[in-house]
Amino acid sequence: MNKLKVLISKEEIEKKVTELAAELREDYHEKNPLLIGALKGCFVFMSDLVRKLDIPVEVDFIKVSSYGIGTHSSGKIKLEHGTKTPIEGRHVLVIEDIVDTGLTVRFLLDYISRRKPASLKLCTLFDKPSGRVMAVPIDYMGFTIPDAFVIGYGLDFDEKFRYLPDLCILED
Ligand code: 5GP
Repeated sequence: MNKLKVLISKEEIEKKVTELAAELREDYHEKNPLLIGALKGCFVFMSDLVRKLDIPVEVDFIKVSSYGIGTHSSGKIKLEHGTKTPIEGRHVLVIEDIVDTGLTVRFLLDYISRRKPASLKLCTLFDKPSGRVMAVPIDYMGFTIPDAFVIGYGLDFDEKFRYLPDLCILED
């Protein structure tokens, strides 16, 4: 039987997303940035963020798989769906829900930088540094979280719990 414990409330998340949006607006307001979201986990964060940003942006999505069924990374990253928008010369901001080992972000940054963007930065709402296997540069970050498997606010466990408004820890 799974038990849920709220780690970060929806009010705290909303406040942080508002702050991140203000920072990004300052940095990107004249750049018509291309926001590339890492599916599926980013979809809630990204939709809140673009509405709070309140500047013209374009959006696209990329889908890679790193987690299979369960709570541990397979360590293998597979591209399932690339971007369609031309990237060359664009100011690209990668939107991630959570950085854990860093393998997904490393893969995404390499994939995008090969396409010659004018600039490339990473924004993640959650960072779990204890899981890091590969160092990755995080330019915009919401919350550092402890070493636990989290769900809610777009993050799933076997496709469940994405709808939860708070970030929760899934306990056995
Ligand atoms: P990384 O490649 O950095 O280990 O993991 C990145 C991806 O793994 C995230 O985009 C997310 O899909 C998944 N992930 C990592 N940690 C968690 C977690 O605690 N909960 C959930 N639901 N997904 C996670």
